[in-house]
Amino acid sequence: MNDTVKYLLDEQHLPRFWYNINADLPKPLDPVLHPGTQQPIAPEELEVIFPRGVIEQEMSTEREIEIPAPVREVWRQWRPSPLYRARRLEQALQTPAKIFYKYEGVSPAGSHKANSAIAQAFYNKAEGVKRITTETGAGQWGSSLSLAGSMFGIEILVYMVKVSYNQKPYRRAFMEAFGARCIASPSDTTESGRAVLAEHPDSTGSLGIAISEAVELAAQREDTKYALGSVLNHVLLHQTVIGLEAMKQLEMADAYPDMVIGCTGGGSNFAGIAFPFLGEQLRGGRAVECIAVEPSACPTLTKGRFAYDFGDTAHLTPLCKMFTLGSSFVPPGFHAGGLRYHGMAPQVSHLAALGLIAPRSYNQLECFAAGLQFAKAEGIIPAPEANHAVRAAIHEAEKCRETGEAKTILFNLSGHGNFDMQAYTDYLGGKLQDLDYAENEVAMALAGLPSIG
Ligand SMILES: *Cc1c(COP(=O)(O)O)cnc(C)c1O
Repeated sequence: MNDTVKYLLDEQHLPRFWYNINADLPKPLDPVLHPGTQQPIAPEELEVIFPRGVIEQEMSTEREIEIPAPVREVWRQWRPSPLYRARRLEQALQTPAKIFYKYEGVSPAGSHKANSAIAQAFYNKAEGVKRITTETGAGQWGSSLSLAGSMFGIEILVYMVKVSYNQKPYRRAFMEAFGARCIASPSDTTESGRAVLAEHPDSTGSLGIAISEAVELAAQREDTKYALGSVLNHVLLHQTVIGLEAMKQLEMADAYPDMVIGCTGGGSNFAGIAFPFLGEQLRGGRAVECIAVEPSACPTLTKGRFAYDFGDTAHLTPLCKMFTLGSSFVPPGFHAGGLRYHGMAPQVSHLAALGLIAPRSYNQLECFAAGLQFAKAEGIIPAPEANHAVRAAIHEAEKCRETGEAKTILFNLSGHGNFDMQAYTDYLGGKLQDLDYAENEVAMALAGLPSIG
């Protein structure tokens, strides 16, 4: 049984360039619009909240974008991350499929989010930014940015969705250990927060609300910028290091995936593992099925609408064309907090609308069951978000058992669940249920979409 197969790259094979899928799209993305004028936004208009370095990346159509040396130097602490063949899981499932997983839980913050946090901190530092505000749901993005802030000497202020702030004291302590300040959102420190509290004093918060608070503060001060942990093109770009490494590692294994699987909250880890392979396909190379897995309780890609919407509740952010459940939709309190977002990355949405990726959803109980099945075989307890990818990978491997096909499955294990043991305690204690999203609330939120044009 002791047959762990691990593919490690030498540091010298750490990618030097990110992959920008904008260069290979069969149809360009729809423009990002100014929230006031509803006209395509100019790069300068974004400078109020973002450093120029990331704005350039946001708009770029260059295929390869160089990864700055200082970013690679920090990354070296845990990158290249390992790729494993899940031999014991394959045996347990009695499947002829080959299952590979890329493990992003090796970062000091425990997930893929550190990849973009380091890059964003670097660009902010280079432009003299003293303070970064941000939001965090389950706490992974706040943890990653706090870590990055302490490495680059930047003050970090995190608005943490209140339900997670109360459920996850260890995540808060993690951020504070790195010197960051963490405030439960909605809070009385911003106008957006006060407006929500006036209407819903008991609000448990949402990512949309926390983004409003963070953006509001960043827009007020010259020395303060805002950082987003997913959704935007530059964040997805930073995460492509995952897929680029996986490609080289699969070469070592003499394999190529038939399907690539990632869980999707805002879309960054899915894009990170899938886009380099999808790019091959778009340039005429091998076809690959890319499966984006979301929770049934927040089914943005599978039940949302492809339309222009705001990224936040107070409507301070630019308008993006994306799959959305409506910016006023507050997802039910299921345990994969990192997947509780009303929108989806414009790039991932665009590819879904073109039929180039395959979205699907699963309920939380089956995802926890899959996560534990994986843990027992492979020895790693996945983050509740990552359980969605695990569920899909197991589902596909089971299909191969039925058909006898020996497909090659690659999935991203986006993070470990060592800070999420309360969720597992609840699951094992029989306290979790499958939550349905409220169709009427989504209908209401969608009815409130901005009318464009
Ligand atoms: C935040 C998070 C996600 C969801 O974010 P994406 O941008 O969709 O990747 C998934 N997995 C883990 C472990 C996370 O921390």
